[in-house]
Amino acid sequence: MKIIVLKETEPLETRVALIPAAVKKLVDMKAEVSVESGAGLEAGATDAEYEAAGASVSSDRAGLLAGADLLASVGCPTEETLRALREGATVIAHVRPFDAPSRLAPAIARRQKVLAMEMVPRSTIAQKMDALSSQANLAGYAAVVVATERLTRILPMMTTPAGTISPAKVFIIGAGVAGLQAIATARRLGARVEAFDVRAEVEEQIRSLGAKFVKFDLGETGGTAQGYAKQLTEEQLRKQRELMGKQCAGADVVITTAQVFGRKAPQLVTTEMVRQMRPGSVVVDMAVESGGNVECSKLNEEVLIEGVRVVGIGNLARHVPVPASQMYASNIVNLIAHFWNKEAAEIRYPLEDEIMKSCLIISNGEVLNDTVRNLMG
Ligand code: NAD
Repeated sequence: MKIIVLKETEPLETRVALIPAAVKKLVDMKAEVSVESGAGLEAGATDAEYEAAGASVSSDRAGLLAGADLLASVGCPTEETLRALREGATVIAHVRPFDAPSRLAPAIARRQKVLAMEMVPRSTIAQKMDALSSQANLAGYAAVVVATERLTRILPMMTTPAGTISPAKVFIIGAGVAGLQAIATARRLGARVEAFDVRAEVEEQIRSLGAKFVKFDLGETGGTAQGYAKQLTEEQLRKQRELMGKQCAGADVVITTAQVFGRKAPQLVTTEMVRQMRPGSVVVDMAVESGGNVECSKLNEEVLIEGVRVVGIGNLARHVPVPASQMYASNIVNLIAHFWNKEAAEIRYPLEDEIMKSCLIISNGEVLNDTVRNLMG
């Protein structure tokens, strides 16, 4: 089976789908791996390292696509890439299935298979393939680093002969994978951290990281069987904004991570709430790509509101491409290995398997996922 890795096409992307160590694992499984020249450079992997791991390296992008059985990618391949990819081949990528699925139309026409990394179930067995978690974890770390670098204060308490500096206050909204890592990172840097999540069960996790769980009574919130939050009603959101206003005003850093799977992110921090913060404070909206938790955040921009810096960097895992690519590549190899047929040295697609049933959203000219099919019209 011929697996290819290309240079990512999204302008701000720094990650690569497979690093040399992952290539070696696939080659040991008897896969043939080809890498586009320079694909790994921003993630610290050279062509020579790919070759040493057993891959062939080529600059002929069209040739690689035409001869591929499987394209491993970080971001969704463009329509042009799908049109150049061999008919019947497989794509494994973050395809953002609910954003603009019409981009995947060429894959239907060309009877390609699309495996969406976003659809890996949140089950124990699939944990090692869960790219949403691996990338969110690193993004949570990066959010704190980005905020700290822009903040006009320091995070830890310092007692010096010149006086005592009190620790910065960090308020984290949403304590899923990214939020918990942000809490842990801010705590390690010495900040006083408070956090809120609509899923009350995370209180214990927040406290075990040395942060305070802030309680707001929003009535029944609950979660889905997959562990995701449910969408709040308009009334609950209004109440949440009202209750959180004071919390935000007292914070030096606010990091928002709140997401509702498959839906637009809830708007939780209004511009008025930002105005109430001290000048020099920082707000990082980690949900900016899915609609934003912060009213005034702008994708890949920084906005100044009366001295408060609102950072809207999309996909913060791109700020740490070396570990992000290492984790992502490992997720991909684990997924491929799980469905690998040793005798034939190729991947199989058993639809009776829970993971495959969830991830395989397009196959043999058909859209298999109901939500994606409805969105495509
Ligand atoms: P996510 O990215 O969908 O959302 C981030 C967080 O925002 C969640 O904790 C959610 O509860 C919270 N949120 C949503 N609306 C909010 C609001 N109005 N106010 C405040 N917070 C709000 O979630 P995620 O980080 O991908 O994962 C969520 C949970 O899924 C995890 O904490 C975990 O319990 C579970 N999970 C399980 C596995 C596994 O079993 N393999 C893997 C990953 C995650």
